Amino acid sequence: MKKKRKSNKRKSRTRQITLICIVILSLLYTFIYKQNNSQNVEIVKVSTVSQHLDANKTDNNVGGNEVNESQEIDKSKPDNIDDESINPRANRKQIEVDKNSFDAGKIQGFLSKNIKINDGKKIAFLTFDDGPSTTVTPKVLEILKRNDIKATFFIVGKQVEENPGAKNLLLEIYKDGHAVGNHTYSHNYSKLYPAGKVDTNAFMEEIIKTSEIMRAVLGQDFDTKVIRFPGGHPSWKGTEQIDSQLEATGYKYIDWNALVGDSEGGTRTKNQIINRYKQTFVGQEKVVILMHDTYGKNSTAEALQYIIDDLKGKGYEFKTLK
Ligand SMILES: [Zn+2]
Repeated sequence: MKKKRKSNKRKSRTRQITLICIVILSLLYTFIYKQNNSQNVEIVKVSTVSQHLDANKTDNNVGGNEVNESQEIDKSKPDNIDDESINPRANRKQIEVDKNSFDAGKIQGFLSKNIKINDGKKIAFLTFDDGPSTTVTPKVLEILKRNDIKATFFIVGKQVEENPGAKNLLLEIYKDGHAVGNHTYSHNYSKLYPAGKVDTNAFMEEIIKTSEIMRAVLGQDFDTKVIRFPGGHPSWKGTEQIDSQLEATGYKYIDWNALVGDSEGGTRTKNQIINRYKQTFVGQEKVVILMHDTYGKNSTAEALQYIIDDLKGKGYEFKTLK
């Protein structure tokens, strides 16, 4: 009798232990599953505001006839633009947000209006303009991959359109998880800013045209609302109209607060690039570094590892602008 009670007791204890084990295991499983899930959800689709571009505005044939730089072929005429891209009722494509990205709107506010971002985080934004090029972009991508760092590439539409190799590189940039920004189609100052004044229609036409070119490569779901003015926004007069149009259509423009001097004229050596970086990076908590990955900018690629190591050593994390 005693023995039976004892064995019953043992059985119920075993059952209890088994039950506790099951509970612990299921809790553990749920926890691990959630962790994995949150790591996997690097890419979350969010819908964006609808585009309010006034289709009529593109009817004003501004800019094209006034171009006096003969080497620039005007390919941005309104009839080249797909109707869907300027249809105000068209559902906007979705943009992708990932764990490496930072709110481009906040950076625009910080750089252009000095609106502070009080998160106490040291963040570096490596930005590469005027590409892709088949000579420098692959080197930049290789270094970024090796360091597991994501950057932002401001693409010139013409560069992509004119070279099949550049198309593949744009796709590689995108697939590697970097941010893709819009840097107009022609990058031609006299066309975008005749007499130093922003030609809003010409500018917007080029932004749309470049978006279409990028979509043809990256898929119709692709969209970017992050742009950079060739030459930088502060360099140009008469920005009120374009500013309000960009704001109404949800575009964010990004300037910079550090640079490497690779567009300041002449060929620079790796050391000159590093020195210019050291002159302009003075510990900004949020630093947006202007660099170029277009043809001839090999020294920038050569200096990149130094710049990454320097920023890492100073406790910076790297984010993209989306
Ligand atoms: Zn540029």
